[in-house]
Amino acid sequence: MKTTVCVIGAGIVGTSCALKMQEEGYQVNLIDAASPGCGVTAIGMGHLVALDESEQELDLCLLSLRMWKDFFTEFPGIGEVSQCGTLWVAENEDQLSEAHHRAQAMNARLWRAETLTGEQVQKLEPALRPGLAGGVRVFGDSVVYPPKLAHFMAQLLVKRGGNLILGKRVAQLTANQLVFADGSKLDADIIIVAAGLEVAKLLPEIAVFGRKGHLAITDRYPGRLSHQIVSMNYGQAAVSADALAVAANVQPRSNGQWLIGSCRQDGQTDNSLDSKALGAVLQSAMTLLPCLADMQIIRAWAGMRPASPDGHPIIGPHPGLAGVWLAAGHEGLGVTMAMATAKMLADQIAGRAGEIDYQHYSPERFFPVQELKYA
Ligand SMILES: Cc1cc2nc3c(=O)[nH]c(=O)nc-3n(C[C@H](O)[C@H](O)[C@H](O)COP(=O)(O)OP(=O)(O)OC[C@H]3O[C@@H](n4cnc5c(N)ncnc54)[C@H](O)[C@@H]3O)c2cc1C
Repeated sequence: MKTTVCVIGAGIVGTSCALKMQEEGYQVNLIDAASPGCGVTAIGMGHLVALDESEQELDLCLLSLRMWKDFFTEFPGIGEVSQCGTLWVAENEDQLSEAHHRAQAMNARLWRAETLTGEQVQKLEPALRPGLAGGVRVFGDSVVYPPKLAHFMAQLLVKRGGNLILGKRVAQLTANQLVFADGSKLDADIIIVAAGLEVAKLLPEIAVFGRKGHLAITDRYPGRLSHQIVSMNYGQAAVSADALAVAANVQPRSNGQWLIGSCRQDGQTDNSLDSKALGAVLQSAMTLLPCLADMQIIRAWAGMRPASPDGHPIIGPHPGLAGVWLAAGHEGLGVTMAMATAKMLADQIAGRAGEIDYQHYSPERFFPVQELKYA
């Protein structure tokens, strides 16, 4: 057995890291102030999606999606996985041209995608409004229920000999020790901080902040929608404190419910519902799927995506605390990227070269070593 690893946070990112480090031969303690999957992991959409806002982002998504695929083959039925694919919908010619680029980028990396005309889109999903310009269908994307997945992974860790420490909040950490809020201490050779939105409370120099999103879910309407439907304007609108970036994003759940998103807003401090933001989300979804106007919404909620200042996750060694590693700031792709995040960390800890450019995600990009008082 190698040395001891403590992972702080049993969300989807922390549970993935814990399992990976156990696979590497470490004795792993997975610690959560509450219970597995009850943080942001319980709030999001669970779309496992290949996004291509940059080459690096697409590489990380695809590595992770392939790893998730292997995981679901090994553990069939876990996390309510549905291999529904994504249908990106283009409402005008500019978006259609982007859809063609998206399909090319995916196919070039052997992630199958096909472009579709407006008629083909309509035929594939008859609930969509007529007259759309077209779209792109990405076959390998899927949908999961993230809190169930995190719960399963935490239990798997225990079954394989790991320790799950729940209901204990880490109040402070040094290079080789955790100090809990109740004053008790735990030594560790390696510490992985995967505390979601609360990373900055433990390490104030890591500027993870909340980017708010609103979601709503309908009653059950089985058989009416087969793909996750996303507008091609997703990710294009600028996000800021006063601006609300909205893009239609509708997910068919395996029980027939439709999960409706999504929007992004900065400068928000809590998960309270804002009727204006929720209204904009529903309106945007109805523009693509008019039948939503006659469907029953049974619940709506809001949550904060843990975001980093440059929009990319923070994965790698803390520049000033030897032995402390970060896995944070995944914004709206934490479920998608969790597996690859764990692999990237494990590779770096073992000193192996991996498939992904570590530097792009390195915490050091925000904090040059010499600026840190720990150094
Ligand atoms: C509206 C919305 C939609 C989303 N849709 C998607 C999507 O479709 N696809 C996708 O991939 N991602 C999506 N996301 C993003 C995704 O949910 C997050 O990126 C991901 O869940 C982050 O996981 P995490 O493990 O880092 O954080 P969390 O799930 O928040 O886990 C952190 C854990 O750390 C624990 N913790 C914190 N501080 C301490 C401490 N001091 N001591 C001990 N424990 C501590 C917490 O209790 C918590 O359980 C969405 C998010 C939102 C809000």
